[in-house]
Amino acid sequence: MNKAIIYLSVLGLFSACSEGSKEKAEKTIEVKETAKAEPTKPEETEVWEPKVPVVTAGINNQAPSDAIILFDGTNLNQWTSSVDSTEAKWILNKDGSMTVNDKTGDIQTKKNFGSIQLHIEWKSPKEVQGKDQTRANSGVFIQKRYEVQVLDNNNNDTYVNGQVGAIYKQSIPLAMASSPTGEWNVYDMIFHAPKFDANGKVTKKATITVLHNGILIQDYFEILGPVEWIGLPKYVAHGKAPISLQDHGDNSRVSYRNIWVRELD
Ligand code: MG
Repeated sequence: MNKAIIYLSVLGLFSACSEGSKEKAEKTIEVKETAKAEPTKPEETEVWEPKVPVVTAGINNQAPSDAIILFDGTNLNQWTSSVDSTEAKWILNKDGSMTVNDKTGDIQTKKNFGSIQLHIEWKSPKEVQGKDQTRANSGVFIQKRYEVQVLDNNNNDTYVNGQVGAIYKQSIPLAMASSPTGEWNVYDMIFHAPKFDANGKVTKKATITVLHNGILIQDYFEILGPVEWIGLPKYVAHGKAPISLQDHGDNSRVSYRNIWVRELD
């Protein structure tokens, strides 16, 4: 019998998917068919196995059932000091948040991550202090290298590739979606880690999609390399790495809460 394997690539259908989920989806619609190349019955293109894992969503941005909770307001046990690997020295608040403890340094997760979906909430202090890059500057560094900028940009001008929601000095956000100063912001991100060959050359650059308060601000941006304050980004091979939060060192007083992550690889 003349057997054919048909790979249906319904790219339009999956255009909203991240690359990883797209790959998975394409794999699952591999259809083995006998005799003809073109399906004529609807069931020939139906996929029933394997079943999709069930995940229970959280209410009001709370962690879904399969997430790793990195911070729920009770302790800093998932975090360590980036300076000396001792316990994280940021301030634990009674309202379920934590605040940058000025000049104690960045904190980072004890666990290393590859590709992830990350949820994190942040706010700048109500009392405005500083301007430009010194007003409530912090940042979410994925794999300790790729920064999504945190900054109080309300009535505070700065270079747009370093403003709130920028991939620092690499990608200007599509929108300025900040909450009023002193109120909570929500970042939701999908990050795919870069891949390297045996010689350390990047074979697939990292990508990132970011929603700020539900608004798309980074649309599957291909990251150029680790963020640099001075100079141009250049990839250097690395594996899974922590998520870190920035102490910018100028009394930023930025607070974070409700941090959870889903691993995608
Ligand atoms: Mg920053």
